[in-house]
Amino acid sequence: MTQPSPRRLRDFVAAFADLLADAPGEARILDTGAALLRDLVVHDDWLPDEFAAPDPERYRQYLLHADSRSRFSVVSFVWGPGQATPIHDHTVWGLIGVLRGAEFAQPYRTDGGRLVPDGPEHRLDAGAVEAVSPRIGDVHRVRNAFADRASVSIHVYGANIGAVRRSVLLEDGTRKPFISGYSNTRLPNIWDVSREVIA
Ligand code: FE
Repeated sequence: MTQPSPRRLRDFVAAFADLLADAPGEARILDTGAALLRDLVVHDDWLPDEFAAPDPERYRQYLLHADSRSRFSVVSFVWGPGQATPIHDHTVWGLIGVLRGAEFAQPYRTDGGRLVPDGPEHRLDAGAVEAVSPRIGDVHRVRNAFADRASVSIHVYGANIGAVRRSVLLEDGTRKPFISGYSNTRLPNIWDVSREVIA
Protein backbone atom coordinates (compact mmCIF):
# COMPACT_ATOMS: atom_id res chain seq x y z
CA MET A 1 0.00 0.00 0.00
CA THR A 2 1.30 3.45 -0.83
CA GLN A 3 1.78 5.54 2.28
CA PRO A 4 0.73 9.18 2.13
CA SER A 5 3.52 11.74 2.05
CA PRO A 6 4.87 12.51 5.54
CA ARG A 7 5.81 15.99 4.37
CA ARG A 8 2.93 17.92 5.94
CA LEU A 9 3.51 16.44 9.37
CA ARG A 10 7.28 16.90 9.11
CA ASP A 11 6.88 20.53 8.05
CA PHE A 12 4.43 21.08 10.92
CA VAL A 13 6.86 19.56 13.45
CA ALA A 14 9.69 21.72 12.09
CA ALA A 15 7.58 24.88 12.20
CA PHE A 16 6.46 24.13 15.76
CA ALA A 17 10.06 23.57 16.87
CA ASP A 18 10.98 26.90 15.25
CA LEU A 19 8.11 28.59 17.10
CA LEU A 20 9.40 27.25 20.43
CA ALA A 21 13.07 27.98 19.69
CA ASP A 22 13.18 31.30 21.53
CA ALA A 23 10.99 30.14 24.43
CA PRO A 24 7.95 32.33 23.70
CA GLY A 25 5.19 32.85 26.25
CA GLU A 26 2.14 30.62 26.23
CA ALA A 27 -0.09 33.22 24.57
CA ARG A 28 2.18 33.36 21.52
CA ILE A 29 2.56 29.58 21.41
CA LEU A 30 -1.21 29.16 21.39
CA ASP A 31 -1.82 31.95 18.91
CA THR A 32 0.84 31.08 16.35
CA GLY A 33 0.56 27.35 17.07
CA ALA A 34 -3.17 27.43 16.34
CA ALA A 35 -2.46 28.89 12.90
CA LEU A 36 0.12 26.17 12.22
CA LEU A 37 -2.27 23.46 13.38
CA ARG A 38 -5.12 24.89 11.29
CA ASP A 39 -2.89 24.69 8.21
CA LEU A 40 -2.22 21.04 9.04
CA VAL A 41 -5.80 19.90 9.67
CA VAL A 42 -7.42 21.64 6.72
CA HIS A 43 -5.68 18.96 4.63
CA ASP A 44 -6.70 15.36 5.17
CA ASP A 45 -4.19 13.63 2.93
CA TRP A 46 -1.23 12.90 5.23
CA LEU A 47 -2.21 10.72 8.21
CA PRO A 48 -1.33 7.03 7.62
CA ASP A 49 -4.33 4.73 8.17
CA GLU A 50 -2.76 2.92 11.12
CA PHE A 51 -2.79 6.18 13.10
CA ALA A 52 -6.45 6.78 12.26
CA ALA A 53 -7.76 3.33 13.20
CA PRO A 54 -10.56 3.34 15.80
CA ASP A 55 -10.93 0.74 18.52
CA PRO A 56 -14.38 -0.68 19.29
CA GLU A 57 -13.91 -0.27 23.05
CA ARG A 58 -12.22 3.03 23.66
CA TYR A 59 -10.89 6.15 21.92
CA ARG A 60 -7.28 5.84 20.78
CA GLN A 61 -4.35 8.20 21.12
CA TYR A 62 -1.47 7.62 18.74
CA LEU A 63 1.79 9.45 19.31
CA LEU A 64 2.86 10.99 15.98
CA HIS A 65 5.89 12.93 17.20
CA ALA A 66 7.65 13.69 20.48
CA ASP A 67 10.11 16.56 20.65
CA SER A 68 13.55 15.40 21.83
CA ARG A 69 13.50 18.06 24.54
CA SER A 70 9.90 17.28 25.56
CA ARG A 71 8.82 20.81 24.62
CA PHE A 72 5.86 19.40 22.68
CA SER A 73 4.21 16.25 21.40
CA VAL A 74 1.77 15.60 18.56
CA VAL A 75 -0.96 12.99 18.95
CA SER A 76 -3.82 11.75 16.75
CA PHE A 77 -6.99 11.11 18.75
CA VAL A 78 -9.37 8.67 17.09
CA TRP A 79 -12.93 8.55 18.31
CA GLY A 80 -15.03 5.55 17.42
CA PRO A 81 -18.78 6.08 17.01
CA GLY A 82 -20.20 7.64 20.20
CA GLN A 83 -16.93 7.48 22.13
CA ALA A 84 -16.06 10.14 24.74
CA THR A 85 -13.35 11.06 27.21
CA PRO A 86 -14.07 11.36 30.91
CA ILE A 87 -13.81 14.91 32.29
CA HIS A 88 -10.05 15.50 32.50
CA ASP A 89 -7.32 18.11 32.84
CA HIS A 90 -4.04 18.55 30.91
CA THR A 91 -1.75 20.57 33.26
CA VAL A 92 0.12 21.96 30.22
CA TRP A 93 -0.99 23.98 27.18
CA GLY A 94 -2.73 22.04 24.44
CA LEU A 95 -4.11 22.65 20.95
CA ILE A 96 -6.87 20.54 19.40
CA GLY A 97 -7.46 20.54 15.65
CA VAL A 98 -10.18 18.45 14.04
CA LEU A 99 -8.93 16.55 10.98
CA ARG A 100 -11.89 14.34 10.12
CA GLY A 101 -15.50 14.21 11.26
CA ALA A 102 -16.47 16.42 14.22
CA GLU A 103 -16.45 16.46 18.00
CA PHE A 104 -18.26 18.14 20.87
CA ALA A 105 -16.28 19.79 23.67
CA GLN A 106 -17.70 20.72 27.08
CA PRO A 107 -15.46 22.93 29.25
CA TYR A 108 -15.76 22.83 33.06
CA ARG A 109 -14.68 25.04 35.93
CA THR A 110 -14.58 24.55 39.66
CA ASP A 111 -17.20 26.37 41.71
CA GLY A 112 -17.26 25.90 45.49
CA GLY A 113 -15.33 22.65 45.16
CA ARG A 114 -17.78 21.23 42.62
CA LEU A 115 -17.33 20.97 38.88
CA VAL A 116 -19.77 23.00 36.78
CA PRO A 117 -20.04 23.51 33.00
CA ASP A 118 -18.10 26.57 31.86
CA GLY A 119 -20.29 27.70 28.97
CA PRO A 120 -22.18 25.49 26.55
CA GLU A 121 -20.98 22.34 24.88
CA HIS A 122 -19.75 23.36 21.44
CA ARG A 123 -19.16 21.56 18.19
CA LEU A 124 -15.80 21.51 16.42
CA ASP A 125 -15.96 20.56 12.77
CA ALA A 126 -13.06 19.54 10.55
CA GLY A 127 -10.58 22.41 10.33
CA ALA A 128 -11.55 23.89 13.71
CA VAL A 129 -8.84 24.49 16.33
CA GLU A 130 -9.16 25.29 20.03
CA ALA A 131 -6.83 25.63 22.98
CA VAL A 132 -6.70 24.48 26.60
CA SER A 133 -4.30 25.29 29.44
CA PRO A 134 -4.34 25.88 33.18
CA ARG A 135 -4.30 29.63 32.38
CA ILE A 136 -7.29 29.75 30.00
CA GLY A 137 -9.32 26.71 31.09
CA ASP A 138 -7.88 23.24 31.41
CA VAL A 139 -10.77 20.92 32.20
CA HIS A 140 -13.10 19.49 29.59
CA ARG A 141 -14.91 16.49 28.22
CA VAL A 142 -14.71 15.67 24.51
CA ARG A 143 -16.86 13.27 22.50
CA ASN A 144 -17.34 12.17 18.93
CA ALA A 145 -20.18 14.17 17.35
CA PHE A 146 -21.14 11.11 15.32
CA ALA A 147 -22.85 7.90 16.46
CA ASP A 148 -22.13 6.08 13.19
CA ARG A 149 -18.56 6.90 12.21
CA ALA A 150 -15.11 7.71 13.52
CA SER A 151 -13.70 11.22 13.99
CA VAL A 152 -10.02 12.14 14.17
CA SER A 153 -8.38 15.16 15.80
CA ILE A 154 -4.73 16.18 15.97
CA HIS A 155 -3.53 17.47 19.35
CA VAL A 156 -0.35 19.29 20.28
CA TYR A 157 0.70 19.58 23.95
CA GLY A 158 3.47 21.40 25.77
CA ALA A 159 5.02 18.18 27.12
CA ASN A 160 5.36 14.49 26.27
CA ILE A 161 1.70 14.26 27.18
CA GLY A 162 1.40 10.49 27.47
CA ALA A 163 3.68 10.54 30.52
CA VAL A 164 2.19 13.58 32.29
CA ARG A 165 0.51 13.05 35.67
CA ARG A 166 -3.03 14.31 35.16
CA SER A 167 -6.49 13.95 36.65
CA VAL A 168 -9.88 12.62 35.71
CA LEU A 169 -12.46 14.74 37.55
CA LEU A 170 -15.86 13.76 38.88
CA GLU A 171 -18.69 16.28 39.15
CA ASP A 172 -18.39 16.34 42.95
CA GLY A 173 -14.85 17.67 42.44
CA THR A 174 -13.09 14.37 43.22
CA ARG A 175 -9.84 13.89 41.30
CA LYS A 176 -8.53 10.53 40.16
CA PRO A 177 -4.89 10.51 39.00
CA PHE A 178 -4.17 9.17 35.52
CA ILE A 179 -1.31 8.91 33.04
CA SER A 180 -2.66 8.41 29.54
CA GLY A 181 0.17 6.63 27.77
CA TYR A 182 -0.21 6.02 24.04
CA SER A 183 -2.01 3.41 21.93
CA ASN A 184 0.95 2.79 19.60
CA THR A 185 4.47 1.46 19.98
CA ARG A 186 5.72 2.64 16.56
CA LEU A 187 5.77 6.13 15.13
CA PRO A 188 5.17 7.31 11.55
CA ASN A 189 8.45 7.75 9.68
CA ILE A 190 8.30 11.45 8.91
CA TRP A 191 12.03 11.71 8.31
CA ASP A 192 12.31 9.68 5.09
CA VAL A 193 12.80 12.47 2.56
CA SER A 194 14.03 10.11 -0.15
CA ARG A 195 10.89 10.28 -2.26
CA GLU A 196 11.17 14.04 -2.33
CA VAL A 197 14.88 13.87 -3.20
CA ILE A 198 14.18 11.41 -6.03
CA ALA A 199 11.30 13.56 -7.31
FE1 FE B 1 -8.38 17.03 26.52
